Amino acid sequence: MNLARILARSARTFPERPALLVGAKCVLTYAALAARAARLAGYLRQNLGLAPGDRVAIYMGNSPEYLESLFGVLWAGLAVVPVNAKLHPREVAWIVHNAEARLVCVSPELAGGLAAALEEGGPTVPLLMPGDGHYLRAVSALAIPVQERAQEDLAWLFYTSGTTGQPKGVMLSHRNLQAMTACFFMDVDPVAPGDAVVYAAPLSHGAGLYSFPYVVRGCRHVIPESGGFDPDELISLSRKPGRLALFAAPTMVRRLVDRVKQSGADPAGFQTIIYGGGPMYGDDIQEALDVMGPRFVQIYGQGESPMTITALSRGLLADRTDPAWAQRAASVGVAQTLVDVRIVDREGRTLPNDEVGEVVVRGDTVMSGYWRNPEASAAALRDGWLWTGDMGCMDSHGFVTLKDRSKDLIISGGSNIYPREVEEVLITHPAVREVSVIGRRDADWGEVVVAFVVLDPAAGGVGQDELDRHCLERIARFKRPKEYRFVDTLPKNNYGKVLKTALRDMLEADTSPREV
Ligand code: AMP
Repeated sequence: MNLARILARSARTFPERPALLVGAKCVLTYAALAARAARLAGYLRQNLGLAPGDRVAIYMGNSPEYLESLFGVLWAGLAVVPVNAKLHPREVAWIVHNAEARLVCVSPELAGGLAAALEEGGPTVPLLMPGDGHYLRAVSALAIPVQERAQEDLAWLFYTSGTTGQPKGVMLSHRNLQAMTACFFMDVDPVAPGDAVVYAAPLSHGAGLYSFPYVVRGCRHVIPESGGFDPDELISLSRKPGRLALFAAPTMVRRLVDRVKQSGADPAGFQTIIYGGGPMYGDDIQEALDVMGPRFVQIYGQGESPMTITALSRGLLADRTDPAWAQRAASVGVAQTLVDVRIVDREGRTLPNDEVGEVVVRGDTVMSGYWRNPEASAAALRDGWLWTGDMGCMDSHGFVTLKDRSKDLIISGGSNIYPREVEEVLITHPAVREVSVIGRRDADWGEVVVAFVVLDPAAGGVGQDELDRHCLERIARFKRPKEYRFVDTLPKNNYGKVLKTALRDMLEADTSPREV
């Protein structure tokens, strides 16, 4: 079944319900949203001649056209490739070419940079820009019915940051996204029709994936006027459409809670705040519950099993009379209903309770593999289980606590940054002889990027500003190091491999002022 049928069904059942809002203002009802998606689908298939399974990338900030394009593409039987709007155009061009996307839906302000990057890196790909004449023709074309798709067909190609410097396309099928949606209702939030969901986090990731359950229930989808995360705007929106739900990274939750506390605002308009995507520290969730009450649910997932590995329910988080509360609040909860989760050793043997190993998961949410990358697929999917790369343990009641990531992923402000990607950019600077990048814990961002750099003495020396400029020209702004440490050598093991643990120890031990 094509997942887009959920929109067709809601439009038939509740045609006049508001579907899309910008701030508190309704811009499309369910009937109108479905009609535009059906016409856009008709345009893609009939006018542009795209074939079932073809990929269409979406490179846009949060906007009403985002959801329209997402559903239009799915409706047409095509696969969406949502790309983080914060990525550098060159990074986006790489993804568009790798996915062999036939079209890119792009916000007008991002189109110029992307067009130039696409030309540099390979064949040009047509762009469709909301607001221009071409787009108006697209949403006025002849509508087509939701196109048939098999459960296993590709629906969403989700690009992760790659450990080897290149992102990998996680292939998510209609079945994967349906199972994720079912788990949402069972383990995260039942959702009432009066709820509104607000998109403060990018629609290209978790927030967009979680639009589906809210379409199923015919809820309102609110795009903040700012297009992103602004705590004051969210507080004001919680008074208008009411019963507001949102998915947020832990850093956003912290900022929202701080603002509610400072302003003394009534949190009653927030129905559910779902957090995940990175670690939430124990003190922070405690403070969040103190300030805003029992409105929180935690999820743990990854692109490869989207939003669906474990969940920590509202009830468990709220029940502070339970003697195990503190430990449970620091966990990521229990396996979601439709997945099996185990903690295993390197050979895949289940470990006893409380022993740390790798988290593995199986079920209908698990990807079929990485796009055109059989090696990476074989490494991640073994004997029917997805190896998450996350280390953790499980207690006797099934609560999973994450300890560390086996990969060296840095999560800063809810965005994933792979150190290797940053290292590969820095090392291209002629004055940089060696570099190693790690994350340092940070109260505001969760983690910040720190680069240890060995300069080539012959190159005449460069400073932080020069390296910063070098990064800005090549990778997304949020990935560049916030701090540089210029060192004579990097600590290495006998095989010449840099010891990141030693670098972390250096940062922990060092309380002297830093060059930032
Ligand atoms: P992504 O594939 O971009 O969604 O990143 C997934 C990774 O984020 C996971 O493999 C975990 O390392 C981390 N992560 C996701 N949810 C949580 C959570 N609730 N607590 C701690 N880390 C998390």
